[in-house]
Amino acid sequence: MKKGQIGVTTENIFPVIKKFLYSDNEIFLRELVSNAIDATQKLKTLSSFGEFKGELGDMRVEVKIDKEAGTLTVTDHGIGMTAEDVDKYINQIAFSGAEEFVNKFKDNANAIIGHFGLGFYSAFMVSKKVVIRSLSYKEGAEAVKWECDGSPEYTMEPCDKTTRGTEVILYIDDESKEYLEQPRIDFLLKKYCRFLPVPVETDGKVINSTEPMWTKKPAELTDDDYRKFYRELYPGQEDPLFWIHLNVDYPFTLTGILYFPKIKNNLDIRKDRIQLYSNQVFVTDSVEGVVPEFMMLLQGVIDSPDIPLNVSRSYLQSDTAVKKISSYITKKVASRLSDLFKADRKEFEQKWDDIKIFIEYGMLTDEKFCDAALKFVLVKDTEGKYFTLDEYRQLIEAEQTDAEGNVVYIYATDPVAQYSYIKAANDKGYNVLVMDGQLDGHFISMLEQKLDKTRFVRVDADSVSNLVPKGDKKDTNLSADQLSMLTILFHSQLPQLEKADFLVSFEALDPSADPILITQNEYMRRMKDMAATQPGMAFYAELPDSYNLIVNTQQPLVAKLLDEAEKALDEKVAPLRQTITDDNTRLADLRKEIKDNKPTDEQKSSENALVSSIDKARAEQEQIVSGFAADKPVIKQMIDLALLANGLLRGKELSEFISRSVKML
Ligand code: ADP
Repeated sequence: MKKGQIGVTTENIFPVIKKFLYSDNEIFLRELVSNAIDATQKLKTLSSFGEFKGELGDMRVEVKIDKEAGTLTVTDHGIGMTAEDVDKYINQIAFSGAEEFVNKFKDNANAIIGHFGLGFYSAFMVSKKVVIRSLSYKEGAEAVKWECDGSPEYTMEPCDKTTRGTEVILYIDDESKEYLEQPRIDFLLKKYCRFLPVPVETDGKVINSTEPMWTKKPAELTDDDYRKFYRELYPGQEDPLFWIHLNVDYPFTLTGILYFPKIKNNLDIRKDRIQLYSNQVFVTDSVEGVVPEFMMLLQGVIDSPDIPLNVSRSYLQSDTAVKKISSYITKKVASRLSDLFKADRKEFEQKWDDIKIFIEYGMLTDEKFCDAALKFVLVKDTEGKYFTLDEYRQLIEAEQTDAEGNVVYIYATDPVAQYSYIKAANDKGYNVLVMDGQLDGHFISMLEQKLDKTRFVRVDADSVSNLVPKGDKKDTNLSADQLSMLTILFHSQLPQLEKADFLVSFEALDPSADPILITQNEYMRRMKDMAATQPGMAFYAELPDSYNLIVNTQQPLVAKLLDEAEKALDEKVAPLRQTITDDNTRLADLRKEIKDNKPTDEQKSSENALVSSIDKARAEQEQIVSGFAADKPVIKQMIDLALLANGLLRGKELSEFISRSVKML
């Protein structure tokens, strides 16, 4: 019998491993089964090269519980090990600075185990003793038994094993009794070994499918096969929209199938949709950092032996192979989408509403994907027609270029609520896009940067004549006195809405247009919209919504109102206006006089007197005009109609509007 010390530099590493790695200890099973599979595959390879001439026989790997003995055994019929092999591969583990690295990675068992080739030793996380019994495939080989109780000492001696292959027998320790329960083992094998290439048997049944879909050639597969596999992976979900079969040999090896699930407008980014495999061994389903963020909306599997199996996520993210893989997948997804677009535009359009969020997300977060996608990303107008960006620009360029040469893209975020604005825009020969997606706000900002001379405005951002300003704005032709009269008339009748400010302005719109139009400044509205989803922008979120109340001075009701007001009030208001004008002139003169000098007491008091005289005249004027306005229900009626059209008339204001309407009828 041979005795020896395992080549670890630290005296007693196993208790350390055990202690720190407790939470992740289930992976020992994956490690042992993977080793068994590897040994099996190696023998198959040797056999196919003629290096091994014997019968392969039944090659399944078995995982067996013996409750009475308190053991869990993993058996394979692979290449096996000679005493020299055990010495070389099991006893001499390359291991330096053990303590240092255990401390560094103590929260992540995966990181330690794979990174330092400790796969087999993970068995000690759950065992008080481990026994290996092995018979090598080599002719005349002698069976060997290795035994170790978790201290750095082991024993090795010949044994009576007669079947080729290896048995790893774990004497499960008291804290790990769960691994003697069949359901627990079934669960773990299903999780990690579901697609292993060699049959794995436990409790009399095989738990894996050895040739999963992604290992087959796309040409051999039907659409139904892909759907079936999808249902196998994600039971109970709606069928996917389409899929991409990945298959690369160079400069790295990668296979897999990515599915586009139906996600619609619900941007619920579950970060565990894609499953990562390494040679059919399940690695993880949290792929953050491995695939580009927007791909997390996809589902499916990625299998690559170039993805380091057992490393921490931060290590994974900085791994160059992983980076290459990530950018390859991005390219592949973009080109698949582009193919789909070219091959069947109609089908692409049908799926558009479902995949839009994915593509927009990709464009917003991945520069390369964005550049590729600019060619096939679609926009939809209010009539449900789809356009590429190029097509759309051609469509609107002639009508919708403003005086500064910018092409103005007009959009609606809620076609029903914004119906009247859309109609007005259409009547003027403008096309209106629907931008009602969750990411559309950000998407619009991005397009403004990507596309030359491009500006987006929401259809209700201004009166239709100003949406695409062409430098021919019609003047109201009203005098300053008339405008100030109108301002007071309307301003005094504004409702007090919570969290809403109104700015009254005037425009000579079409006489047949509504008397009042309510618009929302594009910039402020966007700031507020963004503030709603971005934490750092609370300032904007707190601001009230600000609306423009545009009074159409050409509208007969407005014209009549002004006329009546002038007739009724001019006599009373004229002297006040005169006072204001005169006092203002005097005030300006006085201030010129004072200018840089220190004012005398006399100058100071006349300045104060003038200011208060102006204030007084203004207040009086305001009182007279608003008193008149209060007796004109038509003003409130006009305002309320505009509010109603925008869904802003609610509660008390709404019920007052209704009773006023009834009275007027
Ligand atoms: P890794 O699998 O990462 O190389 P392990 O510690 O799991 O690290 O295994 C070390 C080596 O021991 C393997 O590379 C292999 O040569 C050998 N080995 C482990 N398990 C078996 C087995 N069941 N059959 C044959 N050889 C094995």
